[in-house]
Amino acid sequence: MIRATTFSGRTVAIFGLGVSGIATARALVAGGASVAAWDDSTGARERAAEAGIAVVDLATADWSAFAALVLAPGVPLTHPAPHWTVERARAAGVEVIGDIELFCRERRKVCPASPFIAITGTNGKSTTTALLAHLLRSAGLAVEMGGNIGHPILALAPPAADVHHIIEMSSFQIDLTPSLAPTIGVLLNLSPDHLDRHGPADDAALAMRNYAAIKARLVWAAEAAAIGIEDDDSRRIFERLAAAGRRVMAFATADEARLGPRLYAEGGRLLVREPSGRGAPGSEIASLAGIGTLRGRHNVQNALAALAAFAALQEVVGDAAAVTPHLRGIAAGLGSYPGLPHRLEVVGRIGRVAFVNDSKATNADSAARALASWERDIYWIAGGRPKEGGIRPLAGYFPRIARAYLIGESAGDFAETLDGQVDHVVSGTLDAALSQAAADAARCPGAEPVVLLSPACASYDQFASFVARGDAFRRLVAGLDGVAMTGGGAA
Ligand code: ADP
Repeated sequence: MIRATTFSGRTVAIFGLGVSGIATARALVAGGASVAAWDDSTGARERAAEAGIAVVDLATADWSAFAALVLAPGVPLTHPAPHWTVERARAAGVEVIGDIELFCRERRKVCPASPFIAITGTNGKSTTTALLAHLLRSAGLAVEMGGNIGHPILALAPPAADVHHIIEMSSFQIDLTPSLAPTIGVLLNLSPDHLDRHGPADDAALAMRNYAAIKARLVWAAEAAAIGIEDDDSRRIFERLAAAGRRVMAFATADEARLGPRLYAEGGRLLVREPSGRGAPGSEIASLAGIGTLRGRHNVQNALAALAAFAALQEVVGDAAAVTPHLRGIAAGLGSYPGLPHRLEVVGRIGRVAFVNDSKATNADSAARALASWERDIYWIAGGRPKEGGIRPLAGYFPRIARAYLIGESAGDFAETLDGQVDHVVSGTLDAALSQAAADAARCPGAEPVVLLSPACASYDQFASFVARGDAFRRLVAGLDGVAMTGGGAA
């Protein structure tokens, strides 16, 4: 645990008592502060009180006594409307921050040069964070991974010269971290997401600008940055940093003549070019061919991001002249990346048939990445609480689908979209869908049939969360006759 000492002797209000709120309270108290912690949920308050945390009703508290408000990242800071605790804090002149801000202040105090890599983007944050942590650990380096993935940041070991903090950051967390200054900032990509939280509902363009500006702050604040240049917003951010003479490297899943990315790919081959060699061809550092946990073009982007982060770190703290050999060394760990649960996770096999849990695909965009990862013989389980547009954007992938098994609230709508284009059946439940899909896939003569749960929907109509949905899928697969389960997400 990190002792957050920068509020020692003062009282800090905390709103939101999930895992990160509890870790924040503990870190502040261990650092000599008092806390006044609150949550709307009675259960959360009770759990906090049981953990010995001072629970105080912030609605009736005297805000002039507080030095800061630490807000959980899920709580609205600006849109659709600031949370009432934010209004109260502003009225009392109390600063509003998040747990990563406490980490940054502590790091500045105890070890400002400690390697701190912050990773953001619309998609692929968790994969890139977990992959980079895996690569550095495989190379024998000390890694603390957390933030928006796994452990809350204040539950990790403290900053130290040889400890790499690899931290996933959502836009909400960046917004709550005014003094963010990582060693390396990684921006993967930008596309419209959670725009209701970043601007007025009737002005999507403004909300997108605000969202991009928040993400841009992370790379501007870094000593060196790595930026994916495959969408217009990210490319613009890269060009601005480069024009300002900042230390920044681009990566892209295909070479791009004008910007000449430092890291790029040709299919699954990953290449690096020397800093001065914009027009020159790069040299191969690794290939993703045959690595089941890094299937699909989106994972090429994630792997490039992880390697670019490492290359940038080498340039800042390591041996800038030997980035390429170091990259080759670190890339050796790609093949043993175990994958993350619920993201294209191969949970089991029966003969040639793979059973893949992609429950994290809660929208069509994510499901598209999954459907793009197999060329044919996909036995697709989809549905739940649908998002705007349903599965119509996936039409380009329909020829890859052998049959679709529809579950949840969206079954009727999705059936209409698939009518006349893809063989489908309304299964209703995950249980029924899996039995039908397993039976059909077993009869498929193809080399690599896949039963794929990639719902393109939220889970809340039938499950508590995408995690509960993915866990249920895994349990059901484990119950199939003749299945060999795969541990830890490895393919
Ligand atoms: P995040 O943490 O940003 O939500 P994850 O790494 O958890 O991202 O991946 C979630 C889903 O997003 C994956 O299952 C996949 O469908 C999709 N995805 C992952 N990486 C990318 C990427 N680089 N570009 C686009 N989509 C991606």
